[in-house]
Amino acid sequence: MNVAIDGPAGAGKSTIAKRLAKELGYVYVDTGAMYRAMALYFLEQGIDASKEEEISAVVDGIDISIRYQEGEQQVFLNGENVNGKIRREEVGNMASATSVYPDVRKKLVALQQKLASDTDVIMDGRDIGTCVLPDAEVKIYLTASSATRAKRRYDELQAKGESCDLEAIRLDIEERDERDMNRETSPLKQAEDALLLDSSDKTIEEVVEIIQKICQDRQKESKML
Ligand code: C5P
Repeated sequence: MNVAIDGPAGAGKSTIAKRLAKELGYVYVDTGAMYRAMALYFLEQGIDASKEEEISAVVDGIDISIRYQEGEQQVFLNGENVNGKIRREEVGNMASATSVYPDVRKKLVALQQKLASDTDVIMDGRDIGTCVLPDAEVKIYLTASSATRAKRRYDELQAKGESCDLEAIRLDIEERDERDMNRETSPLKQAEDALLLDSSDKTIEEVVEIIQKICQDRQKESKML
């Protein structure tokens, strides 16, 4: 069984997907981390996000792979574990800007589909239910207001002792949503058969519980068939 969780930045997808994976004994696949690893390569090579031809020319030679250490996903870029480097805002923005290119998506979608064909996964991203795993047994579109998402990100950065500005974070989130939802290739949108879940007024535990129940019901149904 595969579970697809899509939604905009900061909706809580990865926190929730990680917990669910633990509860259900599935493998968690964070696809955003793959776009970030590729973006890190472009940043390190000084390739401009607007240069589609230059990006397409190097994509095939970039090696992105996933391994698991103590249950945690680790992303490798050309053999180097880059988990620690890809969480920076600069990398996230570069990922958003370069994930619009079909050649970038083609390569990473193939890797994601291969992972899901080998084992039961909970995969989160932007196009999982619509493009990567159109036959996933459970599809969730997880969202929250941009104000809520910005506040969560703000609290996260504050807790890490990083200085930040709530309004700037909100604008950044809205800009990223706009780009992810309006790109030509695999834009972020709710799959027709996905369940819409707004987490603005819900705790993480509540959301996990709702999705867990859906997954368990689906498992029971498939056993009865
Ligand atoms: O989820 P995360 O913030 O790590 O993703 C970084 C960027 O990667 C997103 O803003 C989005 O543009 C891109 N992405 C994507 N498709 C996915 C996952 C991420 O286009 N399946």
